[in-house]
Amino acid sequence: MRPSGSRRSVTDTVAGALRRASERLSTSSDTARLDAELLMAHALGVSRSDLLLKHMRDAAPEGFLPLVERRAKKEPVAHIVGMQEFFGLDFTVTPDTLIPRGDSETVVLAALEAAPDAARVLDMGTGTGALLLAFLHECQQARGIGIDASPGALAVAQVNAERLRLVGRAGFRLASWHEKGWTDELGRFDLVLCNPPYVEDDAQLEPDVRDYEPGTALFAGPEGLDDYRAIVPQLGKLLLPGGVAVLEIGANQAESVSAIARESGFAVELRRDLGERPRALILR
Ligand code: GLN
Repeated sequence: MRPSGSRRSVTDTVAGALRRASERLSTSSDTARLDAELLMAHALGVSRSDLLLKHMRDAAPEGFLPLVERRAKKEPVAHIVGMQEFFGLDFTVTPDTLIPRGDSETVVLAALEAAPDAARVLDMGTGTGALLLAFLHECQQARGIGIDASPGALAVAQVNAERLRLVGRAGFRLASWHEKGWTDELGRFDLVLCNPPYVEDDAQLEPDVRDYEPGTALFAGPEGLDDYRAIVPQLGKLLLPGGVAVLEIGANQAESVSAIARESGFAVELRRDLGERPRALILR
């Protein structure tokens, strides 16, 4: 006879383990059940839909519980599984980059609306490459460059371009918009995308974000506006005639960033995210 301690792990089903895991995560995550499903799908090496449709009666894999314990300590699911879905595409994620957020899909949608025929695209602060690669995936005619000040982020963006078979149309380059001369030899663009750091320096972020995502991608001075003040005045020399820039903004920054854009002579249109919060500005 087996010792009783090992019997439960033999008889535990995926369905039962998911129930227990979402209970375990209910105090540490607002999306406990979803988190449990994503971790289980990762542990089994299957998609989430296959997990739900085909694997609920399977034996739960031994590797699942350690993943749940990492999540209980606030590590983001995207870091544990190394992947985040964005705009229907899978992106590799590491602690070197911001985790692509659903709210940022607003930027891609605004760009598809404002510049669907863009041939040359620049993504400033590309991170995982999510904004640029999602746009290029939708627009076959477009080519683009993603810049970032983090070599680690550029390596991740390159992996994502390869995975999405977009290396022929996407290039990445180390550059910082705070340094003089960074635009030399870049040329001009029909479309500039940018999700800059925009969090106020003293903002109280959730531990999942504060302890695990790169501060350099988040914080932008006392009002969270330092990077807009650096970027917007440089857009004139980056855009082709008729070119468009789409900037992600914080939910409370529509007025302040619009003012910065108008000072540089741009007309501004606001787009809201799925929660109806201000999320993107289109500058023409
Ligand atoms: N939306 C992110 C957050 O609130 C911030 C992203 C950014 O600064 N670009 O965590």
